[in-house]
Amino acid sequence: MSAQTRGLVCAHHHLYSSLVRGMPAPKQKSRSFIEILNNIWWRVDAALDNEMIYWSAMLGATEALMSGTTCIIDHHESPNCIEGSLSTIADACKSVGVRVNTCYGVSDRWDDSQQLHSKVSPLAKMTKAASRGLVECERFLSSGGLGMVGVHAAFTCSDETLNAAAGLAKKYSVGVHVHVAEGLDDIQAGARLESLAQDNWLLVHAVHLDRPLRGRVVHNARSNMNNAVGYAKPSEKPNKILLGTDGIGADMIEEARVAYARLREFDVQADPTIVWQWLDNSLELFPDAKNDVVTFNYDFADSPWHTAFTTNMTATEVEIAGEKILVDGLPTRVDLIEVRAKAHEQALRLYERLNN
Ligand SMILES: [Zn+2]
Repeated sequence: MSAQTRGLVCAHHHLYSSLVRGMPAPKQKSRSFIEILNNIWWRVDAALDNEMIYWSAMLGATEALMSGTTCIIDHHESPNCIEGSLSTIADACKSVGVRVNTCYGVSDRWDDSQQLHSKVSPLAKMTKAASRGLVECERFLSSGGLGMVGVHAAFTCSDETLNAAAGLAKKYSVGVHVHVAEGLDDIQAGARLESLAQDNWLLVHAVHLDRPLRGRVVHNARSNMNNAVGYAKPSEKPNKILLGTDGIGADMIEEARVAYARLREFDVQADPTIVWQWLDNSLELFPDAKNDVVTFNYDFADSPWHTAFTTNMTATEVEIAGEKILVDGLPTRVDLIEVRAKAHEQALRLYERLNN
């Protein structure tokens, strides 16, 4: 009772977020998307060091593999551990055997005197932090790393930084990987990126995008619901749609099921092939995934009409270039128990730091 499919692609991940599940609740309640960023994510990313980044990526990559996801497009931020961070992530993924395209997400939200700003004026000057992030992207790309130029989001960047990121991406013939109008706080994103965006850009979320923008749109249905930012209406957008998880694992079949349920709530006539096409669209960015062989313990794993409603099918084997990197549901290159234990150790270090 099994069927084989190609490898799956997660088009937007944050591998650094694997350690965050189970963290102690922040002292302040978050009442909005911007407060979630302030109280959780901008505290977490500022606390990351190299060990944490490595084991978080190891855990995220291992869990991706166990879901049949062989390719990850990662967006990384660690403002107090920028230099070398992209190589740390690439090394971790390589150890597991999954492919990664990563980038450093630049932002001016930390000014040069280490003050955090939830919004940055377009007229501000580029901060040292953003400049270091661009240098890290360039270091990684120029040394042959598979990546893009990352931008956190327009609302935490000056125009100077957005222009520099677009220029750097052009120089290396890659796209910019950027959160776009995820919440209403970033409603200006369309206007500010309009003259910069290119067809190879990854526009993540685009929930409140108010105009056509060049690039592929990455839909993250579960994350959008979790942050209560609204529905992105991907089926009505002119852009090619891809699916991401925004850091909540990398089980793409599960993500497709959630995206499908949310689409049906919006349009009861929609059928699952629409959402499974969004999964296929990512192959343009990772054509090698077509040659990967994933075996699921379910006879109809390649049929959207079956998988949309089969909630307990599991990847049992993954083969890349003739090498089996998952057998009987377990990774072969790394020890799952060790990865979980080391990641837990680093998670406790992270929580300790967040408490102080
Ligand atoms: Zn994201």
